[in-house]
Amino acid sequence: MRKPLMRIPYTGPLPPPRILPRNANTAVGAVAALSNFLNASPAPTLDERSTSPNSTVILTGAGISVASGLADYRGTNGTYRVNKTYRPIYYHEFVQNHEARKRYWARSFLGWPNLDRAEPNATHRAIRDLGHMGFIKSVVTQNVDSFHLLAHPELPALELHGYLRSLRCISCHNELPRDIFQKELARLNPAWAELLEEALASGALDSEDPESRRAKGMKLNPDGDVDLPGAPYTTFRYPACPTCLATPPITPAGTKSTVKVDKDGAFEPSSTAGILKPAVVMFGESIASPVKEAAEHAIDSAGRLLVIGTSLATYSAWRLARRAKDQGMPIAIINLGGVRGEELFFENLDAGQRGELGVRAEMSSDKLLPSLVDHLHVLGAGTSDRPSQAAAKVLTRNNSPFKDMLS
Ligand SMILES: [Zn+2]
Repeated sequence: MRKPLMRIPYTGPLPPPRILPRNANTAVGAVAALSNFLNASPAPTLDERSTSPNSTVILTGAGISVASGLADYRGTNGTYRVNKTYRPIYYHEFVQNHEARKRYWARSFLGWPNLDRAEPNATHRAIRDLGHMGFIKSVVTQNVDSFHLLAHPELPALELHGYLRSLRCISCHNELPRDIFQKELARLNPAWAELLEEALASGALDSEDPESRRAKGMKLNPDGDVDLPGAPYTTFRYPACPTCLATPPITPAGTKSTVKVDKDGAFEPSSTAGILKPAVVMFGESIASPVKEAAEHAIDSAGRLLVIGTSLATYSAWRLARRAKDQGMPIAIINLGGVRGEELFFENLDAGQRGELGVRAEMSSDKLLPSLVDHLHVLGAGTSDRPSQAAAKVLTRNNSPFKDMLS
């Protein structure tokens, strides 16, 4: 069977949602509805798996990282709306084209520090608390910032679209931490490293909007790209995979690959192996079968689905929600703005239901979820107490997560 590819889907706004139940249009009503949802008896169409108290699986998207200062795609200040010329790189371009990789890495080099200093927010912490209280079975995320792993390492989180904290070689598949790679980019591109220091000092990189970047003195082309006099994209250099450089891999045909670098260690395009790629699923790239199967298993072993901060515009996420629906699972959605095909998830709901069969709320999850956690504590719900201070310290960063840098 053909593996699903990642495509660029709906970039415009979707129709506004129908709020369910109707009183979920206020914060108090939404909290009550979500409390009913999490505490509801198992759906009769599901088997014994849903009798487990921690039967809810959570599916998250870029909307939940907005409160960490990262842009989403389709929100009010989303990448597709703010930067009209934004176009992500495709997998085949990245793999086949040295020039495309130079441009990608130049932009990525400038984008990295903002991502590196971003932290998980109240939504991630509330999910951690709901996990501690025994409501959540696992999390599936489309986000590549690794915030879930930082915020709740004890609650399983599957990164459906990979992660930016590492590079992975497309030849030998070894990984390289991004912070080491970033230092290599700075060493190989001193003029860009200087520009990065200046741009960080001026605050020009605090926004994705080309206009505000230009206003803060960053030299940009009409398409929003950086225009660095004396150091255009065509001169940007990036390193080769250190493993492949030391031991060029053998090709499937049985011949030895060649990995060439210049005198400073920068990748030469005549190489036949050793290209490092961010460990994310790029547009036009297949999700690895084990990841796809693990995501399906997460749905199949759950009793309820809670969708947070995503319009489900990517097919790989939408099909998981559809899978839950096809199994008769109650679905709750918290998202600002419409969600792809959402009327399907709530069709034929009993008009008198109070959240136990379905919830649709249009609010910021970083406000709503902490209130839900407080409400559940007051009810005495859940199987354990709030995490201790020691557990809360898990938030202290010990690796480097990053948000989408597909641009
Ligand atoms: Zn390699």
